[in-house]
Amino acid sequence: STPGGTRVKEEKIVVTVRLRPLNKREQSAKDQVAWECIEDHTIVYKPLPQERITQPASFTFDKVFGPACITQTVYEDGVKNVALSSLMGINATIFAYGQTSSGKTYTMRGVTEKAVNDIYKHIMNTPERHFRIKISGLEIYNENVRDLLNSESGRNLKLLDDPEKGTVVEKLVEETAIDDQHLRNLISICEAQRQVGETALNDTSSRSHQIIRLTIESTLRENSDCMRSFVASLNFVDLAGSERASQTNVDGARLREGCHINLSLMTLTTVIRKLSVGKRSGHIPYRDSKLTRILQHSLGGNARTAIICTLSPASSHVEQSRNTLYFATRAK
Ligand code: ADP
Ligand code: MG
Repeated sequence: STPGGTRVKEEKIVVTVRLRPLNKREQSAKDQVAWECIEDHTIVYKPLPQERITQPASFTFDKVFGPACITQTVYEDGVKNVALSSLMGINATIFAYGQTSSGKTYTMRGVTEKAVNDIYKHIMNTPERHFRIKISGLEIYNENVRDLLNSESGRNLKLLDDPEKGTVVEKLVEETAIDDQHLRNLISICEAQRQVGETALNDTSSRSHQIIRLTIESTLRENSDCMRSFVASLNFVDLAGSERASQTNVDGARLREGCHINLSLMTLTTVIRKLSVGKRSGHIPYRDSKLTRILQHSLGGNARTAIICTLSPASSHVEQSRNTLYFATRAK
C-alpha cells in the first residue's frame, strides 16, 4: 500500500483487447461488424439474424477498447503503468497478440512512441537521478534471430547463457541513446529493417516476432551507493500473426510452412498460461523456444506484462477472433 494508505492495484499481467474499425476491404466485401465493446470491460459477439449461439458470446478483461478508441487511450489504460515500472528497476514487457491485419503493428508502434515520451518526461522531472537508456532490436523468423540495428550481422545469431545476465544474444548491437530524438531514430531503424525483410521474404511480418528492448539504468547523482541504482529491461514485442498458433482453417501446406513460427508463439502461449495460473503451474518451458528464452527474465517473477490482444471486427474473421479471445482469457 502507498504512504497515503490507499491500495494500488498492480497486476502482474494486464490483459486488454483492442477492436479496430472495419477496413476498406472488409467494408467493400460487405463484411458485418461481429463484435461490440460495452462498458470498458466486456466484448460481446453480435449474432447474425436467426443465428443460434453455441459458443461463449461475452468476454471480460481489464479493459476493452472499441473502434473509436485512440492509441493514447490504449496506452494510458493498458500499457503505461506496466511500461513505467521499468524506470523503477522492474522488468516489463508489452505484447501485441492477434491475427495478421488485426492491428498489432499499428498499436505497438503507437504505444512505443507514447512510452518513449513518458520515459523522457520522467527523466526531465527527476533531475536528482542520472539515467542511461540503451536499445537493441531483433527479429525472430523461423527460430532464427536477426539484429535489426545491424543489417550486416546475418540471419542466425546465437543465444548464449550468461551466468549473470541469463540468455543473451551473441553480437547483438546495443546502442546508447543520447536523447529522446536519437532513441526515436534508432526505433525507426529497427522498424525499417523489419520492413526490408518483409519485401525480400514476402509477408514475414505474419511469421516473425519483433522485439525492441530498452535497458533503463539510473543512479542517484549525489550518492553513488549502489543500493540506489536501478536497472531494468522494457520490451516491446510485435508477435507473429496468431493464426500461426492455431490450426483452424489452415490447410496442410500452410501448416507445415508455419511449423517453425508456431514454436515460439505456442511456447509463449503456454508460458503465459502457466504464469497466469501462478505458483502451482509447475515447470515453465521458457527454454523451448528462442522468443521465450530471450524474454525469460522479463516474464514471471517480479516482472510485469501487458498484453494487448488485437481483433478484426469482421464477421468473416470470427473464428480467429474467438481464438484470440480464448488466449486472452487464459492469460488472465
Ligand atoms: P498486423 O500488424 O496485426 O498485421 P497492422 O497493424 O498492420 O496489422 O494493421 C492492418 C491495417 O489496419 C493497417 O493498414 C493499419 O493501419 C490498420 N489499422 C490497424 N488498427 C487500426 C486502428 N485501431 N484504427 C485504424 N486503423 C487501424
Ligand atoms: Mg504487423
